[in-house]
Amino acid sequence: MLAMPLTRPTGGFAAVQPPCPHCGRPMSLNRTEPRSGGLPDLCVFKCGECAVWLSESADERRAV
Ligand SMILES: [Zn+2]
Repeated sequence: MLAMPLTRPTGGFAAVQPPCPHCGRPMSLNRTEPRSGGLPDLCVFKCGECAVWLSESADERRAV
């Protein structure tokens, strides 16, 4: 099992990358999808290792 890189300095783009639910690596932001109704953009992440896709809204991430 791979160790998760928890000691990386935060800041910039890396701070918003969620870990892959499959391998734990930081997922890369593939694209953002604008939503209507004043909702924040939907961020679509992809893990290049597992080809796993994950979509999260910035609003949900702030609420956690
Ligand atoms: Zn992965």
